[in-house]
Order: sequence, then structure tokens, then C-alpha cells
Amino acid sequence: MQKILEAILAGATGAELASIPLPDSYRAAVVRREDAAMFEGVASADKDPRKSLHIDEVALPEIAPDEAIVAVMASSINFNTVWTSIFEPLPTFGFLDRMAKESEWGARHALPYQVVGSDAAGVVLRTGSAVRNWNVGDRVTIHCNHVDDQDPSAHDDSMLASNQRIWGFETNFGGLADLTIVKANQLMPKPTHLTWEESAVNALCNSTSYRMLVGRNGARMKQGDNVLVWGATGGIGGYATQYVLNGGGNPIGIVSSPQKAALLNELGCEAVIDRKAENYRFWSDEHTQDETEWRRFGKKIRSLTGDDPDIVFEHVGRQTMGASIFACKRGGTVVTCAATSGFMVEFDNRHFWMKLKKLLSSHFANYAEAWEANRLINLGKIQPLLSAVYGLEDVGEAALKIHRNEHEGKIGVLCLAPTEGLGIDDPAKRDHIGEDKITIFRRYGG
Ligand code: NAP
Repeated sequence: MQKILEAILAGATGAELASIPLPDSYRAAVVRREDAAMFEGVASADKDPRKSLHIDEVALPEIAPDEAIVAVMASSINFNTVWTSIFEPLPTFGFLDRMAKESEWGARHALPYQVVGSDAAGVVLRTGSAVRNWNVGDRVTIHCNHVDDQDPSAHDDSMLASNQRIWGFETNFGGLADLTIVKANQLMPKPTHLTWEESAVNALCNSTSYRMLVGRNGARMKQGDNVLVWGATGGIGGYATQYVLNGGGNPIGIVSSPQKAALLNELGCEAVIDRKAENYRFWSDEHTQDETEWRRFGKKIRSLTGDDPDIVFEHVGRQTMGASIFACKRGGTVVTCAATSGFMVEFDNRHFWMKLKKLLSSHFANYAEAWEANRLINLGKIQPLLSAVYGLEDVGEAALKIHRNEHEGKIGVLCLAPTEGLGIDDPAKRDHIGEDKITIFRRYGG
């Protein structure tokens, strides 16, 4: 692996990289099948990813004709790695076992361990015999939409494919490792002005927010729309806020600290609500929601924007869905892709149907949406949310930070990259876009 790294750092050509033999095994962050019950009886908040995420040496599998092996320079922590590492809402080994029944190549994935991670930036080392548009030596980022494109259900919108999976969550051989195995159609060009770690944090969250707000399958925000964004400096919220600003909308960002509020202001979001300072109690007890608190929340939003939100960007789930549906404008849309605080959501249907609101589900992004979202990063129109960087050996610590909501934006993870700051191909473009803009989350992340 050292030879491969040295060659990449020295700017080796594809032919040179192709001539270096690949190792039989590689370093990877894994969860182990034998640990799947280790947190039984432990409260969710106390489940510690440091106990379940291990750095192991794992065998390098053979690649299918439509796949590539990528040397991972950097990766990132997504919330799905938190879910995998605490085995909630269920252990992810079931996904691998189902995949194993589908095909010969699928069978490779059912192992006693799962290499996790759904983001990466790196260099293509090998391509399968059916790969046409990518070559050894290409510098890439990777999106996590893993689809069998021979299945007709994948043809219109690949997110509707019956066997659509998230790489590194519902598949093995994910991105938190020195090497990764991906389908060639997960590859996208690495943004030329960004470092490896800045390039690695975007694909999953940025593409998700793009589909939710911009693409034809989402809420289709238009100029002037008021958009309420929960977790507006978090992984998906930080991209959502930028999409609203870019698209001529008016974001109302919800955060939980003065530091995050200041970050939002610097990003250009003027309407900010600190939910901790406001001390909203949408649930008066475990079973009862408090409509007076919804009203107080709605009033606060109106005081900032003069109106109700046309769109609510939802992902918090049980704690906030009742308030989101209530606060949304008559005829407006609540778009949701997650349920961090619990997936059994409740809302008052009267406020929903009488005011003709819409509830729209969304999940990651199809190939076209992921490609377009990556293009916007490459154009410097959307900035990376990198706020902190960890080494691969500290992946458990990094996941714990996200589990405890002690981070801003995205946490990057150095895999093969020996230090931060490497991988910028076009420094002039970086200067033109502006170091301050690119590193805004890093400055707040410390
Ligand atoms: P994240 O970086 O942890 O950000 C989530 C934000 O939500 C936090 O910054 C926090 O902001 C806010 N939050 C957390 N608990 C809250 C509560 N009880 N009430 C109000 N706000 C709360 O995570 P992320 O990467 O943005 O992901 C968010 C969720 O979306 C996760 O569940 C993840 O699995 C899911 N997701 C789904 C997809 C998909 O394709 N379906 C893709 C990406 C992510 P403040 O504390 O500042 O308010």
C-alpha cells in the first residue's frame, strides 16, 4: 500500500499505477457480525461507536466487470455509519445477507464483517472489464447510490430501483478504508480546487439535499420561497441552506447554539432560530404533543419572515414532525429524508389536510442528481462542509461526535492521505472561489 500511496503523491500516471501490484488485504473500519447484539438493553444515546467500530485488515475481493477499485485518500462520517455502529434500527448484516442471495457477485458481500462508509475521494487503481468511461489514475469522488442498472425499475429514476442500496451501509466494502470497491457508475470527477478531505465529505449529504430541494423529484424550491431548515449547520442542513440561498430563497435556519447561529449568519442566512435558547417543548410527555408550543414556534418563524414556510426541510422525525407539519404554509410542502429522533412520527392531520399541505419523502439521489450536485461543488457554487478531520484509526471517536451532535457540518477522515491539505489540482481556481468561502465550516469546527 505504501508504494501505491507514494506513487499517488508523486503524481504517477495511470500506467504506472496499473503496474503496481495490489495487496491481498487492506486496512478498513468495520463492524463485526459477532458484535451485533453487544448494545442490547443499552439506551440509544449511551451506545458507543468506539466499542463497535474496529480497524481491521480485510481481504481485497475480486471485482465484478462493472466495478472499480479505488485508493481512498479521504472519506467522511455520515449518520448512517452511526446507525450501523449502534446496530439501530437494525443490524446492517441482514442487508448483506439479502444481497448475497441475488447474484454471484452479491455473495461476496455477506461476510463476518462489514466495511462501512458511504463517501470517499481517491484515485482509481483498477477497473473491471466492462468499465468504459473511467481509467486507472482518475481522481474521483464517489456517490453512494448502488443500483443494478439492468433492472428496468432503475431506468427512469435509479432511486426507484427495487434493488437500490446505499454503498457502505447496505453493501460491504465501503469508503472508510484504504481501498474501496464501487460500481463504475458511482464514480464522479473530483472537484479540482479541493483537498482530498474537502472532496470526500460532500457526495452523500450534498446530493441528498439537492434532490430534496432542487431536483425534479423533490420540493422544487423556487425563488422567494421561505424554507425552514432543521439542523441548518448539520450534514444535510448545511447544504440545504446553501441551495436555498443559491436559488433565491429565504432560509430560516434552526440550530442549537450561538456558535452555529453565527456560522449561519456568515453563510448568509439571516433568519436563525436557536431552538435551545427558545426551549421548545413540542412533546409535553412521551405520548402528547403541545399545540401551544407549535403555535409559539410558528409565531417565531412569522416574526422573522412575515410568513409561514413554503417548504420545511425535515429529517429530525418524531421530535419535530408535528411542529413541521403545523408550521408549514397552507399548500406548502414538508420534505423528509430521515428520522434521527425516532421514525414513528405523529402529526395533527387536521392541520395537514384542511390546509392542503404536502408531505414528500426523499432518499439520497439518482445518478443524474448526484452528478449535478457534484458539478455544483466543482463549480464552487456549493461549498464543502468540512469542519474537522480525524485519522481512520479514530473513526469511532468521530462517529461518537456525530452521535452526540457535537459537530458542525461534516467530519472528514484521512485514509491513505498522510496529512490534510493535499490533492488540490487547481490552486488558481481555489483562489478565485476564495479560501474563506471554502473553509467556512472548518473555521467554526476548530
Ligand atoms: P447531522 O450532521 O448530525 O445533522 C443533524 C442536525 O439535526 C444536527 O446538526 C442538529 O442540529 C439537528 N437535530 C438533531 N436532533 C434534533 C432534535 N431533537 N431536534 C431538532 N434538531 C435536531 O446529520 P445529517 O448528516 O445532517 O443527517 C441527518 C439525518 O438525515 C440522519 O438521520 C441521517 O441518517 C439522515 N440522512 C438521510 C439521507 C437519505 O438519503 N435518506 C441522507 C443523509 C442523511 P442542531 O442541534 O443545531 O439543531
